[in-house]
Amino acid sequence: MGLEKGIIVYHLSADCTLSEVEEGKIYIARVQGFANFGTFVQLNDRVKGLIHKSNLKTRHNERDPVLVKVLAIRSNGNIDLEEVTPSVYHTEVVVKKSAAVRLKELSQYLGRSVRIEGIVAQIKQTSGPTIFTISDGSGIGNAAAFIEAGVRAYPEVQLGDTVTMIGEVMTRNSQLQVEVSSLAVMTGEDGERVRATFEAVIEARAEPEDLPFLIKSETLEKLKPAMRKVAKLIRRAIFEAQPIIIRHHADADGICAAVAIELAVTGLLRENGSDFDADYFMMKRAPSKAPFYELEDITRDLDFALKDRIRYGQKLPMVILMDNGSTMEDEPSLTIARIFRLPVIVVDHHHPDQEIDQYLRAHVNPYHVGGDFGITSGMLGTEIARMINPAIEGQIRHFPAVSAVGDRSEAGERSLYLSLVRDEYSEEHCKEIALALDYEQFWLRFNDGREIVKYILDVTKDAGVHQSLIRLLVDQANGAIEEQMAALMPHVEGRRLHNGAHLFLFDVELFAHKFTFPPPGKTSGEVHDRLCKEHPGEPVVSIGVGPDFAVLRSKGVLMNIPRMVRELRDEITGGGISGGGHLVVGSIKFVEGMRTTVIEGLVAKIGRAETQSGSA
Ligand code: MN
Repeated sequence: MGLEKGIIVYHLSADCTLSEVEEGKIYIARVQGFANFGTFVQLNDRVKGLIHKSNLKTRHNERDPVLVKVLAIRSNGNIDLEEVTPSVYHTEVVVKKSAAVRLKELSQYLGRSVRIEGIVAQIKQTSGPTIFTISDGSGIGNAAAFIEAGVRAYPEVQLGDTVTMIGEVMTRNSQLQVEVSSLAVMTGEDGERVRATFEAVIEARAEPEDLPFLIKSETLEKLKPAMRKVAKLIRRAIFEAQPIIIRHHADADGICAAVAIELAVTGLLRENGSDFDADYFMMKRAPSKAPFYELEDITRDLDFALKDRIRYGQKLPMVILMDNGSTMEDEPSLTIARIFRLPVIVVDHHHPDQEIDQYLRAHVNPYHVGGDFGITSGMLGTEIARMINPAIEGQIRHFPAVSAVGDRSEAGERSLYLSLVRDEYSEEHCKEIALALDYEQFWLRFNDGREIVKYILDVTKDAGVHQSLIRLLVDQANGAIEEQMAALMPHVEGRRLHNGAHLFLFDVELFAHKFTFPPPGKTSGEVHDRLCKEHPGEPVVSIGVGPDFAVLRSKGVLMNIPRMVRELRDEITGGGISGGGHLVVGSIKFVEGMRTTVIEGLVAKIGRAETQSGSA
C-alpha cells in the first residue's frame, strides 16, 4: 500500500481519557456489546461510545475492530459515533495530554508507564532494539524500541525531532531505560511548545555556577565573562548530548587544563543521566603533537565524528582546544571545522592572532585583557572546570600549581596557586608531577592515557601508587635528561650579540639522542635553564637547531617570536618558513637547504631586540 496522505485514523493510547477525544475525528475502536438501539464500542479501556443503529455500516461480532467518527460528545460524557469505512488511511497515536515526566525524575517511576516529551539527541541501531536518546533539558534518557532484531524502529523519527513517547521504565545493565510502546513526532504547536520548554530549561540549567576563583587575580576577574561563556557552552553541549572532543598541547600545562575539563564533563554526564559508556562515547581527549591544532588532528577528529554519526547516530562534536588553538597556525584546521559547522572553543595563553576569532564560538586568552602567558592554560582550565561542575574541585585544586611550574610561569598567580595547596603538594612535588606528565606523555604519543594520567595527577588519591609512580617516572626522566645534557652541553656555541644578550646555538640532532626523551623542545629548554644559571641576571637566548627547525628560548630579551617568524617568511625567499609559539618561547620551521640563511636572519633579529638588564 502506498503512503497516501489523507484520512487519519487515531489510535487512543491506553492512558487517554475523554479529554483527548475530539469531535469530527476518526478513531479505531473495538466492539464491546450490542443493544437494540445500537452497538457499544471502546476507544480504549477508559473511553466508551455508542454507534446508533442508524449509523452502522456493517455487521460485527464482539471484539471486532471498527473505525468510528465522533459525531458529538455530550455534556454527560456520552459519545455519539458513526461507523466509517475509508479504504485508504493512516493511523496516528493519540497520547495523553497530562504533564510529561521529567527525565531527571525518571528513577522515581521504575516499573511504571510514563510519557516523555523531548528532543531526539541520538539514535543508535543495535543488533536488537533501536535506542533513542531523548533530552528534555532536565536530563537525558535512553529508550529502547523494538520491531524486529536489528531493524530500525520508528524510521520516521529523526535526530533533532521533538517527540512524545510512552513506555515503561525499566533497568537494563543497571541503567534506567524506557521500553517504548509508542513514539511519535510532535509537529505544529505541540512541537514548538516542547522545543520552547526544552530551550528555556536548558538555558537556565546551562548557566554556570558563580563561584569566586580559588585565588585573587585581577587578570582572571577580567577573563571571568569569557570563562563563564565557555563553561555555559560546555554545559549546554552535555545537556544536549553533543559529544565533546578536547584537544590539547601535549605538555604538563596542556594536560592539566584538559584533564580538569575532562573530569568536569564526565562527572556532569553521569549526573545528567548518561550511561557509563558515555565517558568514552561522549567525551574524547587527545593531545596534539604539534603545538597547534594540526591538519592531522582535525582530519582524525572529523573522520571519527562522521563515522560515529553514521554508526551510532551521534551529533557532530564540539571541539575544545586547550593550550593550543589561538594562532594562525591553527587556521587551516579551523577552516575544515567550519565546513562541518563544528563549534570550536579555545582556552589558551599563547599570543593570539585576532583573525582566528572568526572561527571560534568562544575564546579565553589572558592577552585579551592585558595579561600574558604567566596565566597558564591549567589555571584557566581548572577555574572553568569548577564553573562547569563545582563537585570536582577537590580533585583538581592542585592542577594550576602543577601547570604553573610546568610552564615556568612567573606571574603572581603562580605563587598564589602554589600556596593554596602547599600543605598537600609542595612546589617540589608539583614540579615532579609536571615532569612525570611530560615524560609519560612522550611515551603515550598520540594517546590520552586517560587512566594513567589520573594516577600521575593524583586524581585517584591512591597515595601509594601516586608516589611510587612519580618517583619512578621522575628518576627515569632525569636520567634521560642528564644523559642528553652530557652529550650536548660540550657542543653549545656561545657568542655575544650587539644588544648585549648571550646567544647560544646547539644542534639538537647531531649532538643529542633522537626519538627518545627528552625530545628537541624539552632538550633545548634544559640547555637554556643551565645556561641561564651560568649567567645570572643577564639576557640569554638559546637556539636548539635541527635540520629543518629551530627551538627558541629566551630570558631578559623582549622578543616576539611569532612576529619574527612572519617577518623572516617575507624576507627570505624560498625559506619555507613557518612557526610561532609564545612571545619568548617558540619554534620555527624551514627547508633544510636554507638553514644557515634562516638562522642568520633570526640571530640578526634577536640582536636588535631590546633587553631587560638585571632581570633575575
Ligand atoms: Mn601552556
